[in-house]
Amino acid sequence: MAREYETVIGLEAHAHLKTRTKLFCACSAQPDPAPNSHVCPVCTGMPGVLPVMNKEAVRLAVRTALAMSCRVQTASVMARKNYFYPDLPKNYQISQYERPLATDGEVPFHVQGTRRTVRLVRIHMEEDAGRLLHEGGASLVDYNRCGVPLVEIVSQPDLRTPEEAAEYLKALRNILRYIGASEANMEEGNLRCDANISIRPAGDGALGTKVEIKNMNSFRHVQQALAFEAKRQAELTDRGGRVAQETRLWDPEALATRSMRSKEEAHDYRYFPDPDLLPLSVPQIWVDEIAREIPELPAQKIEKYTRDLGLPASDAQTLVDDLELVAFFEEALRSYPEARPLANWLTSELVGLLRQAGKTIAGGPVGPTALAGLLGEVDSGRISGKMGKELLAEMVSTGASAASIIEKKGLRQITDEGDLERVVDSLIAKFPNERKRVEAGEIKLMQFFVGQAMKETGGKANPPKLQAILRRKFRLS
Ligand SMILES: [Zn+2]
Repeated sequence: MAREYETVIGLEAHAHLKTRTKLFCACSAQPDPAPNSHVCPVCTGMPGVLPVMNKEAVRLAVRTALAMSCRVQTASVMARKNYFYPDLPKNYQISQYERPLATDGEVPFHVQGTRRTVRLVRIHMEEDAGRLLHEGGASLVDYNRCGVPLVEIVSQPDLRTPEEAAEYLKALRNILRYIGASEANMEEGNLRCDANISIRPAGDGALGTKVEIKNMNSFRHVQQALAFEAKRQAELTDRGGRVAQETRLWDPEALATRSMRSKEEAHDYRYFPDPDLLPLSVPQIWVDEIAREIPELPAQKIEKYTRDLGLPASDAQTLVDDLELVAFFEEALRSYPEARPLANWLTSELVGLLRQAGKTIAGGPVGPTALAGLLGEVDSGRISGKMGKELLAEMVSTGASAASIIEKKGLRQITDEGDLERVVDSLIAKFPNERKRVEAGEIKLMQFFVGQAMKETGGKANPPKLQAILRRKFRLS
């Protein structure tokens, strides 16, 4: 019988900081499809050049550290991590080792509505390497990415399932986007992640041998790769084998990890403080200033939406996962304070319609006040919910407001009691058999009259009022 194992996962995430220029030179840090178009002697590692630290990169890294509740060190040290690879022209990467920018910290995240936290070991700054392109049997190198600033966010091995790992990584992405520190897009490579994973017999305190997994380019890959690896390690151990400490690559086509190399140790990199750079000094007064500018964070919003506004956890998560959606929601909430129906119309109706039309929420055809206006019309009973949905579709395609479409099409619901009563009376006279059956107790046939009244009025009869009149006529209430 297979033994029960507990999976232990820690993630190292790398995020590109959203600066205009690179970490140590004035080259553009923006992606460019033309290879080697953003390069200079500094980022291509020419002899005799000197790196100059980009202050904005430090500011964004400090902002990231504060948003993740880290302790920011007022003095930290840039170090050389020495290794040879063709995409690294200096043969070392400027990173941080013994004295990182920030330590400790924690990141809250939600798994199916339940709040969890992951502790962080550290956040440090480093430069990115270039990219190798393999084309037509040749390998080419593009140095555009060389020297782009990164933060590396190292977690404690606090995660227990692949799903938790993916949710934690999404929470990281959300924080990075909320504070404007990074685009944090995994598919575009400006958020990347390596995972350390081991298994141990359930209830055991000691950690098993860990395997590092690389090359996961989406949240789905992270979850798939970790699930595969946990299973591989469990089956190997059950067969009496031993898990080797190594680096494995995720192969998204084969849906499997494969061995890449035995894991290098820190001492293999011969770290030492970079003699070209002074210790990085971040005065406390600057840290305090940056702290004051941190906006409301995703986890705070989720708490607020579920606790104060009564939104279902899934709706709160959907809103918070998308910066544009959350901004739209909060803006609309100012003119229409019913959070639940608003979230529902926004996430299921409007988003769906926009997706079909190939349009986006920000700057799209229906703004927050326009949606709020439509919901006001529905609430007032002037139009039904069903009419509201049709109206919304028209608002998406034309950009017109609910009120103007209602006016133009004469869509107002019939809410006048006298008008509705006249319709009901004529139907009762028109269908004497059905009337008798209802009177004999066949209550379900009431729906027949509702349907007929809707047909008669072109769908404009106000349903609650219509029901009330019918019940009164048949003496049911
Ligand atoms: Zn450069």
